[in-house]
Amino acid sequence: MTALPAPLVQLAAALGRLPGIGPRSAERLSLHLVQTDRQFVEHLATVLVGARNLVGPCQTCGALTEIQPCGICADASRDGSVLCLVERPVDIFGFEKSRSFKGRYHVLGGKLSPTQGIGPEDLRIAELERRLSTEESPKSFSPLVQTSKVMPPVITSRAGCGPRVSR
Ligand SMILES: [Zn+2]
Repeated sequence: MTALPAPLVQLAAALGRLPGIGPRSAERLSLHLVQTDRQFVEHLATVLVGARNLVGPCQTCGALTEIQPCGICADASRDGSVLCLVERPVDIFGFEKSRSFKGRYHVLGGKLSPTQGIGPEDLRIAELERRLSTEESPKSFSPLVQTSKVMPPVITSRAGCGPRVSR
């Protein structure tokens, strides 16, 4: 018989599913949450659900956003002729922090891994091809992309629909 009340065990089990949270951290967090200010816990629950419900991928580039299209895609001052391919939405934050890139982005959603069964159809390559075929087709890819380790090699071989991409 466990010493912890069932709701605490359930809370720890749920927190333990978060990345970087081990069983001990999950138990420590759950013990803290049931003993801390009730208003804080209610606020935490509200912002947690709100963030999950309001934030999603930009329908154009795949960046995390609460508006469609995202602020970067909607920013007319950015250079739409240069497209930076990134693996994950979070990668955009790194480029944006450097403030050196003024083009737009396209999130691929991962990288090819035949051993893990991740093929081109699992990435946002069809969306990329659609973007490249539109009137506002990018004329070149950013040098950031050409030196990036995150770019899956499939882009090179499928770049016939648009500008050629090299690593
Ligand atoms: Zn966007």
